[in-house]
Amino acid sequence: MRRVVELRWDPILGEWVAVSNIREERPWRPSGCPFCPGSPETGSGWSVVVLENRFPMLVPEPPEPTSRRWPFIAVPGRGRCLVIVETPEHSLDDLSDLGVDGVLRVLERVRSALWFRNKGEEVGVSLTHPHSQLYAMPVIPSKVLREMRSCYRYWLEKRRCLLCEVRDAELREGTRIVYRSTDFVAYVPFWARWPFEVHIHPLKHVQSVRGMDRGTLESLAECLTKVLCGLKNLFEKPMPYVMALHEPPLRGEYPWYHTHIEVYGMYRVSGRLKYAAGAELGGGVFTYDSTPERAAEMLRRCIESRC
Ligand code: ZN
Ligand code: ZN
Ligand code: FE
Repeated sequence: MRRVVELRWDPILGEWVAVSNIREERPWRPSGCPFCPGSPETGSGWSVVVLENRFPMLVPEPPEPTSRRWPFIAVPGRGRCLVIVETPEHSLDDLSDLGVDGVLRVLERVRSALWFRNKGEEVGVSLTHPHSQLYAMPVIPSKVLREMRSCYRYWLEKRRCLLCEVRDAELREGTRIVYRSTDFVAYVPFWARWPFEVHIHPLKHVQSVRGMDRGTLESLAECLTKVLCGLKNLFEKPMPYVMALHEPPLRGEYPWYHTHIEVYGMYRVSGRLKYAAGAELGGGVFTYDSTPERAAEMLRRCIESRC
């Protein structure tokens, strides 16, 4: 079988799609945890370890793309996919169980590219040992690109960072704030799509986590720990979620865009799983069955009483 590892460009929606047939071989729930200390890949004597993803979406030496001719344009899937094993303890449930120090140790490893974390079998997680992933990509992830475009347009007109403006408006309004640490604020955005969608922004314009000093990073670890602990304890069963760090590209100065984390908690206010279905996948219109204000209040209370 021909090896295919490439990024295909959808000119209609203006989005990249990563295609890799290496991942056909990915085992589902293998017996024996490959991330536990003492396994061939991890060895022992670590608190956080970074591994190559054995079934990567991107590789350092990709094959020639299958097509370069309009309208079927692909670029080589050059990059790296890493797995961050966040703790030696297999049975911990989530990042928030590591405590602020543990989260900080993880954050110190993620100062590049797209960092994301999937939690729960509902979102396709096959290995339960706490871990997250890093993709170093040859393109800007489509969602970050769209945000950057809006932010740049806004900057041209107003000379202000749009993300800072929105954050300040959320702070003024206050009803959707979930948690505040010294340097960060977590809120459910006015236009949240997922039931417990939480965005974590620095209180001052900070371009990237790479430039953060230890104190700031610690404050981020605290804010993230509280948010994830809240999601975990809100219902009887820990909530499945997807989390991603939105960072500008590694090179360049971006006074008009700043780093932030987005978490999409997928249980509805009723505790039942929310699917992206007809309206969402078909039409690109998310339906929200409660209000972001109510979700924010529930999460805020849960953090106050249980985290
Ligand atoms: Zn394990
Ligand atoms: Zn900003
Ligand atoms: Fe974002």
